[in-house]
Amino acid sequence: MLTPSIPILAYHKIDDRPDFGITSRKIAHFKEDLRLLEARGYHSITFKDLDAGISVPEKAVIITFDDGYASFHDLALPLLLERGFRAVVFIPTAYVGRENSWDVQWGQHHYKHMDVEQIVACHRAGIEIGSHLVQHLFPGLLSDAVLEYEMAASKKQLSEWTNEEVISLSYPFGKYDPRAIRAARGHYRYAVGQSSPAFPGEELSALFLPRINVYRMDSSARIIKKMEQAVQGHFSLRDRLIQKGAWATVALQYLKFSQKNVRKIKRHAEIN
Ligand SMILES: [Zn+2]
Repeated sequence: MLTPSIPILAYHKIDDRPDFGITSRKIAHFKEDLRLLEARGYHSITFKDLDAGISVPEKAVIITFDDGYASFHDLALPLLLERGFRAVVFIPTAYVGRENSWDVQWGQHHYKHMDVEQIVACHRAGIEIGSHLVQHLFPGLLSDAVLEYEMAASKKQLSEWTNEEVISLSYPFGKYDPRAIRAARGHYRYAVGQSSPAFPGEELSALFLPRINVYRMDSSARIIKKMEQAVQGHFSLRDRLIQKGAWATVALQYLKFSQKNVRKIKRHAEIN
């Protein structure tokens, strides 16, 4: 059984620039997170480790990063390695080497994604590379055929670049439904979303693992507290409410691409 015994942290950007989004973590705060994790005796593992059947340390944590920003390679990686931590980075393959034009720009800044060379360097340094689909689109709005393409093409591309099978997935926007999980099952062995599981009552599955979001305003101590609570099966109400706000980003992103299916987004918002 994988979780809830192993807390999974969800980071996005490590960046000091002011940003209206709240998932960007300041460098000094990230340093402090790692210091505290180490001081509290945590050891990082990856989905590859679990897949290989390693004996899981008593205080294990899986540290994940969504979106594959260049700041992961430039800033987070050296800090992780310095303390002997590893991580899993989820990449939307269409944006490799490009800026985050898929995202709604809450701030003025554009953020660069890692290029292939940087992804390969991370992988060589012991970072697990996972999929964040191809175009970072919300799975619930994709047709069966497009969803299947996104699942397969992202895995194929990343596996080629790293010369190793990619086995983990992060659903864009942390959103999943039974159809997305079924699609993931054909390609991945582990898949993560956000906050609490979407299907209370169902046994946690390796294909819809909840994560603990790390926000800009969280203190390092609060992150550890959230991890301890998650292990008990509790996810912060505040975080769950913030996560609801992610629907705004989904909706705005979709408006950028098409005006047509806004009603569909609303229906999804209502059932979640
Ligand atoms: Zn993302």
